[in-house]
Amino acid sequence: MREHDVVIVGGGLAGLRAAIEAGRGVDTAVVSKLHPLRSHTGAAQGGIAASLGNASRDSVEEHLFDTVKGSDYLCDQDAVEILVKEAPGNVYDLEHIGVVFSRTEDGKIAQRPFGGHSKPRACYAADWTGHTVLHTIYEQSLIAGLRFYDEWYALAIAMNDGACAGIVAMNIATGDIEAFHAKAVIFATGGYGRAYRITSNAYANTGDGLALVLNAGLQVQDMEFVQFHPTGLYQQGILVTEGARGEGGYLLNDKDERFMERYAKEKMELAPRDVISRAIQTEINEGRGIGGKDFVYLDIRHFGEEHIRESLPQIQDLVVNFLGVDPIKQPIPIQPTAHYSMGGIPTDVHGQVIFGPEREPVPGLYAAGECACVSVHGANRLGTNSLLEAVTFGRRVGIAASEFASEAKNVPFPEELLSQVKEDVDKLLGSTGKESAPLIRTELQETMTNLCGIFRKEADLRNCIEKVRELRERADDVGIHDRSRIFNTELIDVLETRNLLEFSEVIAVGAEARRESRGAHFRTDYPKRDDGNWLKHTLAWREKGGVVLDYKDIVITKYQPRERRY
Ligand SMILES: Cc1cc2nc3c(=O)[nH]c(=O)nc-3n(C[C@H](O)[C@H](O)[C@H](O)COP(=O)(O)OP(=O)(O)OC[C@H]3O[C@@H](n4cnc5c(N)ncnc54)[C@H](O)[C@@H]3O)c2cc1C
Repeated sequence: MREHDVVIVGGGLAGLRAAIEAGRGVDTAVVSKLHPLRSHTGAAQGGIAASLGNASRDSVEEHLFDTVKGSDYLCDQDAVEILVKEAPGNVYDLEHIGVVFSRTEDGKIAQRPFGGHSKPRACYAADWTGHTVLHTIYEQSLIAGLRFYDEWYALAIAMNDGACAGIVAMNIATGDIEAFHAKAVIFATGGYGRAYRITSNAYANTGDGLALVLNAGLQVQDMEFVQFHPTGLYQQGILVTEGARGEGGYLLNDKDERFMERYAKEKMELAPRDVISRAIQTEINEGRGIGGKDFVYLDIRHFGEEHIRESLPQIQDLVVNFLGVDPIKQPIPIQPTAHYSMGGIPTDVHGQVIFGPEREPVPGLYAAGECACVSVHGANRLGTNSLLEAVTFGRRVGIAASEFASEAKNVPFPEELLSQVKEDVDKLLGSTGKESAPLIRTELQETMTNLCGIFRKEADLRNCIEKVRELRERADDVGIHDRSRIFNTELIDVLETRNLLEFSEVIAVGAEARRESRGAHFRTDYPKRDDGNWLKHTLAWREKGGVVLDYKDIVITKYQPRERRY
């Protein structure tokens, strides 16, 4: 059995920021299925938000209001207040540890406009922001001398009498499965875009943390809110940062119209993501996609070659390499792509995992970053607020977990869990079942995309739930060909597919129940927001194989809900 005071699952921005903080006080380890530098944070392009006011006058108050409005009023405003107040300090911290932000003429951190933000407040490093931030914070975590378990896959949360006692994880290189006994565990396992066919997310973004939490009998929150980013490369889903529109790029349909005029007259291409994704999908559905196909154009040609190469070099490479189109000379074919999960593991503002409408703490268990739901994004996240969330709440959760761990007594590790997990993996490795995990995963992605995507309705959602349940049953009979324990990527694929199935049903059940349209959740059969009945968070957990729902109040501090216009 391995012993640490704090174990952090996930080596992305949230996990590493938490680790550096926790490591100052107590013995801290990071368990990550990927080498930390391969975490999806490294793919972030456009920027990190803070009201520095370097490009125009700005204030914390405006950042707060934009975020609350962007969330379609479903966020918890106390958490958003912390996010926006701590933003400038956190961005300067990143600068001080060496993040090479792009600069203004007079040497300040440059800031570009982003959708839903009323002021230019995205701080960026060309279109390599996440890469730069992740590498810098990783250097710091090496300096801090933390213990890393790279390429270890977390399989289960150890609960003992309602408190967390650690995790069970597998060393992918050897197949050894071990218990990690800890006083506090922090989940920072990132998002789950891979539940959808067209996604901007990395292959590893399979929402494992959410599945583990559900398996442990705990809850997830607001899972029906799945963000579709408007500009994914056609058929690939790979992201073209909103920074491209922030810098003046625009969208065109088959008739060469800037169609956003019909959907968001004032903000046009800088309306929030939910609004623009629906606009693009409507153009496509009504036959105005390019050549009648399911894509439209993003045009940045007017920036000129020099500006494109300087401020969007990665985008230029991606478009040339994946579509064979040169954005300097041709418009870019794009379609909406599954991008971000607003929902996740419910926590308080210190990252402490909570349970039920009364927000009871689950001792020893914490979460931060994209897998958590604190909730600063409500029903729709504004671009650049997610890297900000990962650093802000990563830092806070690191402090909270280390304070807890320095005082708490060890909760005994439930030994039987380790044998159960080992048995389960042995069974999988010996299985000769007739089902194939990759096929089940593909069917799941098709199902979620077609029946629980940008536009939703009751009949589709019911079919979706039924189909996912059927896939869950079929997954019990999955066969494995590679029986070795060493770097068994087929085994990992099966485990990830099971995880995707575990929470995808929760997304669909939550979406079917929520009979209104809010933020990223749009019901064609209930197209209006309904504050009277639905201004509340969804809580979901599993009981006897089924999904159970409950609801809890949101926190309003300053801004009462209003109609959202852009
Ligand atoms: C293409 C793209 C561009 C983006 N651009 C921006 C942007 O410009 N600005 C912005 O604010 N946001 C952006 N986002 C969103 C933002 O990047 C993410 O929400 C954020 O980086 C998530 O950080 P994280 O630390 O929570 O998770 P991640 O960085 O995804 O890290 C998750 C970690 O969990 C580990 N893990 C997962 N499962 C397991 C398991 N079972 N066992 C062990 N370890 C596990 C992984 O190894 C990984 O280290 C973008 C996202 C994408 C996909």
